[in-house]
Amino acid sequence: MSDANSCLFYQSRTPRPFLDYGEGIYLFDETGKRYIDGSSGAMVSNIGHSNPRVLAKMKAQMDKATFGYRLHFRTHPSEDLAAKTVAMTPEGLDRVFFVSGGSEAVESAVKLARQYAVTQGQSSRHRVISRFPSYHGCTFGALDLTGYDPLREPFAPMLEGMPKVAAPATYLDRDDLSEEERGLKYAELLRDRILEEGPENVLAFLMEPVGGASTGALVAPDSYYGRVREICDEFGVLLIYDEVMTGAGRTGKFLAAEHWGITPDIVAMSKGFGAGYAPLGAIVASARLVEPVLDAGGFLHGFTYAGNPLACSAGLAVLEELEDQGLIGNAAKMGEVLMAGLRELMDRYPFIGDVRGKGLLTAFEFVSDRATLAPLPPSLDAHARLVELAYERGLIIYSRRTRGGTAGDHFLIAPPLIITEAQIGDIMAILRDALDAFAK
Ligand code: PMP
Repeated sequence: MSDANSCLFYQSRTPRPFLDYGEGIYLFDETGKRYIDGSSGAMVSNIGHSNPRVLAKMKAQMDKATFGYRLHFRTHPSEDLAAKTVAMTPEGLDRVFFVSGGSEAVESAVKLARQYAVTQGQSSRHRVISRFPSYHGCTFGALDLTGYDPLREPFAPMLEGMPKVAAPATYLDRDDLSEEERGLKYAELLRDRILEEGPENVLAFLMEPVGGASTGALVAPDSYYGRVREICDEFGVLLIYDEVMTGAGRTGKFLAAEHWGITPDIVAMSKGFGAGYAPLGAIVASARLVEPVLDAGGFLHGFTYAGNPLACSAGLAVLEELEDQGLIGNAAKMGEVLMAGLRELMDRYPFIGDVRGKGLLTAFEFVSDRATLAPLPPSLDAHARLVELAYERGLIIYSRRTRGGTAGDHFLIAPPLIITEAQIGDIMAILRDALDAFAK
């Protein structure tokens, strides 16, 4: 166990064993205990641990140059990764800007949108509408866009407040609407909000296509996505997809946007893009936005480590692995197996009130009563307890109690995309055992 007197600190004092090594979907601690990485860390390790191709490519790059500042040199890994990224994303997204993480990607997307608006003589457009609940990162700008008050309040009043609209819920809505009607209803909330702010003041709408840390794999009704795109077009509002968690194949498409045939104006990616091999992220944007900014003197933004050749060599090998091993298709296929397993859990445990997800971004949520869908009392600390019970049994899962900050212990099950059906069976066996222990 880590020493309570360690001089290193993160959020809290949770003691954890020292990590020794990783292999495929497994991590091993220094005592030799094996863990199934059932959440790919924090939805990061999409191609599993210690992938030989990625390591070989990184080692070869290390022998040449680990860093060359982007204003001093072009590098092949960064050019090749940008080209590969564009080739894998839907048409219309054809310019790439590298960063080193998800919060950086979100803020870069918003700053690009802002500079673009200025080049178009629309400098009044400055407000960004995001959703509630949502998670977009922990730097001040990204946090201001995040729809989760417990993370924001300690730092209030922060930057200038950004307006938020409610995100489309699924089962929590107890109305008589059909799925389609509900999707349209929530899209109209965005329209109302744009009109309230004055369309001439609204720069962009930022959304996670499938909720991540905030809502636990909550997918909106299909009708929502297309209608949101239409509304943004109607008012000249840029549509930014935060695919930091969903991007790079996690949901069974390279971008989750592809499930609904949507082309956002800017996409933010990270997590699975570097897949745990390098701190890496990117925004992918339409040339229509980028070229005027470059023509007007350049994008006044950039991070020192961005696009370094070592990180980009890792990212390139990650994308090659996704493609050559057919991992995105595997995510779609194994996602169905996983969802079927989660539905079985729901049949078995009355305190599981919902299962949901897309591809290998899946979740289940606890309730105290299926009829009212009331959450378990916070005093039970259910989200932390089940994580510990699974951890003891050699399974890592990711939990939050954050739906709007008001309800819902939910658990994300999001293993690496290399997972097999037999390994999903192993996850289910441990989950059943942990849930039995929890129910006692
Ligand atoms: N956006 C989303 C959707 C995320 O899930 C996260 C991380 N959980 C972030 C942004 C922030 O990424 P990072 O922690 O790498 O800054």
